[in-house]
Amino acid sequence: MNGPTSYARIRVADGSVLTADYSPDGTLNAAGRVYRAEEIQYLPPASPTKLVCVGLNYRAHADEMAESLPDEPLLFFKPPSALAAFGEPIVRPVGVTSRLDYEGELVVVMARRTTRVSEASALEYVEGLTIGNDVTARQFQVPGSQWTRAKGYDTFAPVGPAIVRTTDWSGRGVETRLNGGLVQSSTTDRMIFGVPTLISWISSIMTLEPGDLIFTGTPSGVGPMNDGDVVEVTVEGIGCLRNTVIASEVLFDKQPVGAPS
Ligand code: MG
Repeated sequence: MNGPTSYARIRVADGSVLTADYSPDGTLNAAGRVYRAEEIQYLPPASPTKLVCVGLNYRAHADEMAESLPDEPLLFFKPPSALAAFGEPIVRPVGVTSRLDYEGELVVVMARRTTRVSEASALEYVEGLTIGNDVTARQFQVPGSQWTRAKGYDTFAPVGPAIVRTTDWSGRGVETRLNGGLVQSSTTDRMIFGVPTLISWISSIMTLEPGDLIFTGTPSGVGPMNDGDVVEVTVEGIGCLRNTVIASEVLFDKQPVGAPS
């Protein structure tokens, strides 16, 4: 495999965007120099045409949602406009008054165009693994079944910080912490449909493109985030994705750059 083991996309002080070697301690190496996290802004590590997400892929989460187990992978989309990078805020939309939930998940990044692949060859099409938070305005999903609304708002798909170039998806711990307190803890072994099955199934429906993301589902322990909360999703061996929740009014108080005064 060519290239770095792990890489992040960053914007540096002069505004240029770089692909940086990423070390688990947070060190970033790009264009012959080392960057400290405080010097840079993370960007989402991939540029997907679509974010394909899997619901109810852990038995304990299906139980806590009082849902029966699906016979086939339950799929939904998030739009690319929902992406947020490591460190970017998760913005609570106006009117979302309760249950703005975290869902920590392993995310698969596709390497190349993938159409109707078998489970046996599915992992050959994988670029690597990263981490996602399937942010959900639960009040629109249950009982209204407005999944696209519930999960599609801007910033409802934090992803990152880096892509680790591995296809070794199984046996990885998945943990979510809210303000430092452990709220989700499971392992990817407990998925109902494993990653090769998901890729084969999804690619039998739609062509996956390079950079497309598959959110593989969340374990049990989902719950609400409040404004100011810091949410961290860790996938063992992949890294830790950290974001802070803010109310949308905070942003609306700012003038967009270039807007008439
Ligand atoms: Mg989810």
